[in-house]
Amino acid sequence: MTDKTDKQELKCNFCGRPQSRVKRLIIGNSANICDECIRLSARYLQSEKPTVEEELGEVPTPREIRRKLDDYVVGHDRAKKILAVAVYNHYRRIEHNLLRPARRDFSPGAVQEDDDGVELEKANILLVGPTGTGKTLLARTLARSLNVPFAIADATTLTEAGYVGEDVENIILKLVQAADYNIERAQHGIVYIDEIDKIGRKTDSPSITRDVSGEGVQQALLKIIEGTVAAVPPQGGRKHPEQKYIYIDTTNILFICGGMFHDLDQIIARRVGRNIIGFSDEPHTDKERELREARLEPEDLIKYGLIPELVGRLPVTARLRELDEDQLATILTKPRNALVRQYQRQFELEGVELEVTRGALREIAGEAMRRKVGARGLRAILEELMLEAFYNLPVPVKKVKLTARVVRERLDPVAEALKERDRKVG
Ligand code: ADP
Repeated sequence: MTDKTDKQELKCNFCGRPQSRVKRLIIGNSANICDECIRLSARYLQSEKPTVEEELGEVPTPREIRRKLDDYVVGHDRAKKILAVAVYNHYRRIEHNLLRPARRDFSPGAVQEDDDGVELEKANILLVGPTGTGKTLLARTLARSLNVPFAIADATTLTEAGYVGEDVENIILKLVQAADYNIERAQHGIVYIDEIDKIGRKTDSPSITRDVSGEGVQQALLKIIEGTVAAVPPQGGRKHPEQKYIYIDTTNILFICGGMFHDLDQIIARRVGRNIIGFSDEPHTDKERELREARLEPEDLIKYGLIPELVGRLPVTARLRELDEDQLATILTKPRNALVRQYQRQFELEGVELEVTRGALREIAGEAMRRKVGARGLRAILEELMLEAFYNLPVPVKKVKLTARVVRERLDPVAEALKERDRKVG
């Protein structure tokens, strides 16, 4: 091979090797790069961890978030709107803070202030509504639409450090685990805390002996919700002095608390000076309608024994109403992973078409209404109905039909399909 490294020959501007010594040379406008340097650069980029901005990606608009919620959650129009806006603002605030790190105070709980004194404070969310209306589902779907880790905790299992029960820090551990121990990701996740209405202070006057499940837990929760650096034992369990901890800054974690707040309408009614007896699900009178739209005030929540500081940290509130029969029927078929769709897929695997009539949907929804556990009843009813059917699979018919009668009389739809076939043959 002749050495052609004379001045005329093109070179890689990164490693300096001449064109004749490399396999490929990509010629650019003002610089060239060889195949080897491209390969090295690619390897370097792949090994590099994505930045938080890259992880978060572009924050979807409130309308996009709303659309995602609609894919999975039926009803709750206003709550969805409130959530979409709150979550959008939350992640825009994080982005804004990331873009201007030099001017910011990152100490826990610090309120970020702009040059003009405008504060962008974290706004955690409170969801109020009966069991099985989709509070957890809304929180989970939000996390999914933003592609951030998500964890669920039950407030009633928490105790303040040192008592029997779960430490508040374990909530954060769950989030870290959901983020595969990626601390950066965990610090931008969403936590849903259920049954927040059940940890109210037991008495109005603070007692001398601290109550294990009441105010102490609220104080501990308050700290992580408003923003602190939490010391989390990586294996979970109770803290002990020799343990190593993971330190998580909770400032940018979005907390969504949920609770049913039994009889809240009555409390609001009393506050606004109206007495409503037997507040029905459908507002019949103007008075009822007016009340239904009455804003939930902090003092209403304090009536449940929540400490004012905690209420203050949950400034965004959304109310979910009991689902009606139509909505329950819709839940069976419409959401992306609707129960009926799941059962149909399962039957498809056996080469059988599962038809669920409108009458059957209505019957199941009606029964779920009577159980008073919201959409949770739907799964239980379907499972009761389908157990025998699944037990009898595989089955030599092409189609199985779930009708209102099959639901009402708890018949086995597969056995019914077989009878039908025999009748035709006979
Ligand atoms: P909550 O947290 O209010 O008690 P969940 O979100 O746990 O209720 O609901 C239980 C299940 O019921 C969900 O996983 C979902 O399958 C179904 N569900 C409840 N509400 C809705 C809804 N509004 N739209 C679609 N599915 C729902």
